[in-house]
Amino acid sequence: MTIPVEKTLEEVISLVLEESKKALKYPYKFKKPIKNVAIIGAGPSGLPTARHLKEAGFNVRVFERNSVVGGIWAYSEEAPVKPKIPSSPEEADVESEVYDGPDGGVETITVEMTPEIKKLLLTKCPPSPCYRDLQGNNPSRLFALPGLTFPEGTPLFCSHKAIGKYFQDYAEKFELLPLIKFDTSVDLVYKNDDDIWEVYLSKYDVYPSGLVKISSWMETFDAVVAASGIYQNGFVPDFKDLAAWDKMWPDKAIHSNQYRRGSISACDISRSLEGFARSVTMSMRGPFESSAHIVNLVRSTIPKSTTIKPNITSFSNIQGQVDGSVLFEDGSVLDSIDHVIFCTGYTHSLRYFGVGLLKAKSTARHPYADVPESEVLVYRSHPLNVYQEVFLMSDPTFAFVGFPPYFATPTHFDTQAQAVARVWTGNALIPSVYTMSKFTQEYDLGIDPAGLYEVDRRRKEHFSTWLNHHAKMLHKDDGVELPEVENYPEYWEKEGLEALEQWVEISTNHYKNTRESIKKRCL
Ligand SMILES: Cc1cc2nc3c(=O)[nH]c(=O)nc-3n(C[C@H](O)[C@H](O)[C@H](O)COP(=O)(O)OP(=O)(O)OC[C@H]3O[C@@H](n4cnc5c(N)ncnc54)[C@H](O)[C@@H]3O)c2cc1C
Repeated sequence: MTIPVEKTLEEVISLVLEESKKALKYPYKFKKPIKNVAIIGAGPSGLPTARHLKEAGFNVRVFERNSVVGGIWAYSEEAPVKPKIPSSPEEADVESEVYDGPDGGVETITVEMTPEIKKLLLTKCPPSPCYRDLQGNNPSRLFALPGLTFPEGTPLFCSHKAIGKYFQDYAEKFELLPLIKFDTSVDLVYKNDDDIWEVYLSKYDVYPSGLVKISSWMETFDAVVAASGIYQNGFVPDFKDLAAWDKMWPDKAIHSNQYRRGSISACDISRSLEGFARSVTMSMRGPFESSAHIVNLVRSTIPKSTTIKPNITSFSNIQGQVDGSVLFEDGSVLDSIDHVIFCTGYTHSLRYFGVGLLKAKSTARHPYADVPESEVLVYRSHPLNVYQEVFLMSDPTFAFVGFPPYFATPTHFDTQAQAVARVWTGNALIPSVYTMSKFTQEYDLGIDPAGLYEVDRRRKEHFSTWLNHHAKMLHKDDGVELPEVENYPEYWEKEGLEALEQWVEISTNHYKNTRESIKKRCL
């Protein structure tokens, strides 16, 4: 295997300009103009998408299955239901039925809130994985979307409450709330024979009397944006004997997204359990030292009292009996386990594609041009057959915002949203399906996907170079001047990296203070 060489910013610009010229020469031709657009999700991706598409003149409808904006940052005391243990990358779309709803009208039923209905509600409209003590790990200045800063005096790293409030303020400032249909789940999206997207929806109104009104209907759109997040459905790998283990002790295992008093990250959970659990053992795939600076910083916060073990071989003992113990790759066994928390990541939120979803068994690059029309090839939480991370190659009237194959902050989603607005208004072009596929298979910046601020400007440059080049070329004769699409400022990298160094201390103090205040309350 050849190790890709890191591209410089200049190399990125030249690669993208070359691609951008191809798109001008052999553009993808949309079958008809786009006017009506649906956006799935009103989180940090959906909100800037709604803003840019509205400002570009589209008729925009946003469907959000929760009652507020903010996505992950909307905390709820209620936990999501336990994912299937073990799950598989294929699991996430099992529940998507092809909905046979009313034709044009709204079908409504009113039912009692039974445990089954409660489970249905928690599945259709699951609470966010946000936990009580969550603090953002990006400096607030770098986390804010263009167009609105955090209020003066906001700490460098702020609580989920401050972040949730920020997104509410953003929705108000850009007058997005009237566009959003809350408590409404997108159950299925489907391209019909007339080349129109049919979006099947269900809305759940819970009354104080205990009754639940369930409404189902269908709406049609010229184009759809998925902004439904990549951290919505918990993923648990298929360890040997785990299924039998979970059957015998169904209350012992949870996924980290159900954890209300800790975090997504195994490191944060071990910190929040320090002083409360008798012992904490953390199993880890791969070496402790990572090639990614941010991962090493986070791991440096694991309490000394946590025992580190290698990966799990099986949820059974050395003789293969499922007796409640766990066998690790170094041959050691852990027994007397009270709880197992799977901090094993997420799988995609794209179950609304139903039969249009194709599963990839690995991240190996595929001949994307051959994917059937309006179908999505997906691996774990990410779509693969997308051009510039955003446009579904098998049908670019569908776009993804907030699904880049690496860690990114909402500011990046804002740029992706601008790309959607530019392409769908004809102010930027994408090339033919063949060229999109070729570019996606070959384009490799040679940078670490787990890298952060140090590589952000190179990742984002391809958008600004492409969109600004096309704005200039497409409007060179008509005098129209579109605003410049900006990359991150140069100070971004330095400020981000410096803030991360401070994060270790600030976040360690945060957990220490939380622990002390909980202990005080319990005494
Ligand atoms: C616990 C946790 C901590 C994190 N901490 C940080 C951090 O410190 N810094 C950072 O930069 N990032 C962090 N992240 C990443 C976080 O995902 C992003 O900050 C951001 O929330 C992504 O925005 P999004 O809009 O793409 O997705 P989300 O925030 O997940 O929002 C997606 C929205 O789509 C809605 N939706 C999904 N499916 C449907 C459907 N079928 N129908 C209708 N609505 C639907 C959801 O209800 C949700 O509101 C964290 C993630 C988690 C899980």
